[in-house]
Amino acid sequence: MKSRALSAALCALALVVACALPTAAAWADDNDSANVINPLQMPDNSFLYDTSIYDLINADPTYEGSTVQITGEVVGDAVHDLEDEGKTWLTLSSTDKKAPGSISVLVDDDDVSLVDTYGAFDKTGTILRVKGTYHLSCSEHEGTMDVHADSVTAVTEGQTHEEEFDFDDFVPGIIVCAVGLVLAIAYYIMRERNL
Ligand SMILES: [Zn+2]
Repeated sequence: MKSRALSAALCALALVVACALPTAAAWADDNDSANVINPLQMPDNSFLYDTSIYDLINADPTYEGSTVQITGEVVGDAVHDLEDEGKTWLTLSSTDKKAPGSISVLVDDDDVSLVDTYGAFDKTGTILRVKGTYHLSCSEHEGTMDVHADSVTAVTEGQTHEEEFDFDDFVPGIIVCAVGLVLAIAYYIMRERNL
């Protein structure tokens, strides 16, 4: 009967391990998405503001009409501009969690092929570097804040992942597994004594 109790304990242990495995996978994935690539210097940087999306949306009016270079993750969807033939809107989101924000970028239709993934809750979108003209309140586009892209470069491919790692999500599962393990062992010990 001891072997039966042992196998029950092993089963319960396997359950605990199975519960813990997604934790390890999610953790590894989280590390992968932490890659940050520094923007390259452009040859004509004398008139180029290499800036953050956060700085643009917390607008400093002196940026109006200036050439900027921003790097961000493509999120949401690509939207064709109905009035501007051959142009598409992309949304670039800051990759810096301490300086969040997103901005609309008008790119050529051809540039859309650079985007392999659109960021969503379970996906990290392609990271693009866009050089273009910043408009605090664009006269061509109903006063929206935007960047009209001159050049677009893909910096990092997007990726799909299961879920962002959050240890708190695993706590109830771990507790249930631990309780199950204790109960399984207690049950077989009691059963063995009765027989
Ligand atoms: Zn515009």
